[in-house]
Amino acid sequence: MFDYLIVGAGFAGSVLAERLASYSNKKVLVIDKRPHIAGNAYDHYNEEGILVHKYGPHIFHTNSKEVFEYLGQFTEWRSYEHRVLASVDGQQVPMPINLDTINQLYGLNLTSFELDKFFESVAEKVDTVRTSEDVVVSKVGRELYEKFFKNYTRKQWGMDPSELDKSVTSRVPTRTNRDDRYFTDTYQAMPLHGFTKMFEKMLDHPNIKIMLNTDYHEIIDFIPFKEMIFTGPVDEYFDFKFGKLPYRSLEFKHETLNKEVFQPVAVVNYPNDHLYTRITEFKYLTGQQHQKTSVVYEFPRAEGDPYYPVPRPENAELYNQYKKLAEATPNVHFVGRLATYKYYNMDQVVAQALTLHKKLTGGPKDELPAVEGVSGLPKEVRQALNGSSTKLSTNG
Ligand SMILES: Cc1cc2nc3c(=O)[nH]c(=O)nc-3n(C[C@H](O)[C@H](O)[C@H](O)COP(=O)(O)OP(=O)(O)OC[C@H]3O[C@@H](n4cnc5c(N)ncnc54)[C@H](O)[C@@H]3O)c2cc1C
Repeated sequence: MFDYLIVGAGFAGSVLAERLASYSNKKVLVIDKRPHIAGNAYDHYNEEGILVHKYGPHIFHTNSKEVFEYLGQFTEWRSYEHRVLASVDGQQVPMPINLDTINQLYGLNLTSFELDKFFESVAEKVDTVRTSEDVVVSKVGRELYEKFFKNYTRKQWGMDPSELDKSVTSRVPTRTNRDDRYFTDTYQAMPLHGFTKMFEKMLDHPNIKIMLNTDYHEIIDFIPFKEMIFTGPVDEYFDFKFGKLPYRSLEFKHETLNKEVFQPVAVVNYPNDHLYTRITEFKYLTGQQHQKTSVVYEFPRAEGDPYYPVPRPENAELYNQYKKLAEATPNVHFVGRLATYKYYNMDQVVAQALTLHKKLTGGPKDELPAVEGVSGLPKEVRQALNGSSTKLSTNG
């Protein structure tokens, strides 16, 4: 008999498997319906021998020393600071908007102080900031909103920013200095040999058995276990009893090109042109040297694998119905982005999993030490674990 059946071999499932097996000496079976471990963070060498991320670019960043050191047991790190350009008005300019973005775009030579004044002069007065549109126009005005945010958000979400919760754009900063890093977290690094290798090491323990290509419905009645950790979609677990939780999906078009370099930075956003939202060139993320280069185009879709929970009040309400049911289900623990219907970054999911492990193994609930300092969102993760609702934004 297994102590735990863990559904899903992504960050949530794998961190819990590792902790329960090696720290708590539990016998664990991990299953995943996909043919590989690592969930959405899965990377692999393609037919040309270039390391690519199958489900879109995954960049690791965190403010949590604990999360960084925990994962560091399973990988060496390669220091990497992520940079993004946006293709606007025929130029490629830094994103998030900073001093160079504005100077380059308008052919100006403003100082940081003058840029502050510029933003003040173009910002629109919004009494109550409710939507994604309000967030941006109240900071940088309508013109920059239209150039950088409006169409990108429409493409990404299939909805106008005025219909979307403020959380979607509120975490994209605007800077008056020349800092062109996409993230400002304390720890910014990529696993030296890739994410999948890190997961292999994490799951390499005699107490852990793995079954791939297996939907949990196929085995649930045949394999004896004491408790379940479920990291799949919470609505699916309850047979869509209250209806389907809406997600936005993506289609990835991978391409390998017969040239060493394709674009100047890892990611170029296309807010206004083309049907895709962005192009990522993997060698910037992985540091790999190769005569060819591989890129991925992202096309937002209404249907497909569930990627981004849609942050609207009615969806939060629907999720809360499932959440109540989940909390009342004995011996099943719901964790991770699909089971808690939240857009979480990888570090947040690791923190959530470490915290659940502490709870399962009798650690004091109040302290919840694993989530301290995670990307500035410990409160949300705490709330997610303790019962109140929360909305998080996307920046993946
Ligand atoms: C396009 C994109 C880019 C991203 N970029 C970043 C980034 O740059 N940085 C960052 O920190 N985060 C990023 N993220 C977020 C990151 O992917 C998540 O934080 C992380 O993958 C969540 O791990 P998880 O274990 O909760 O879920 P997942 O990785 O999705 O794992 C869940 C697993 O459960 C399995 N499963 C589901 N249902 C069943 C079933 N019925 N039976 C068996 N198995 C099942 C699935 O196959 C899956 O493998 C990005 C997300 C997306 C969509």
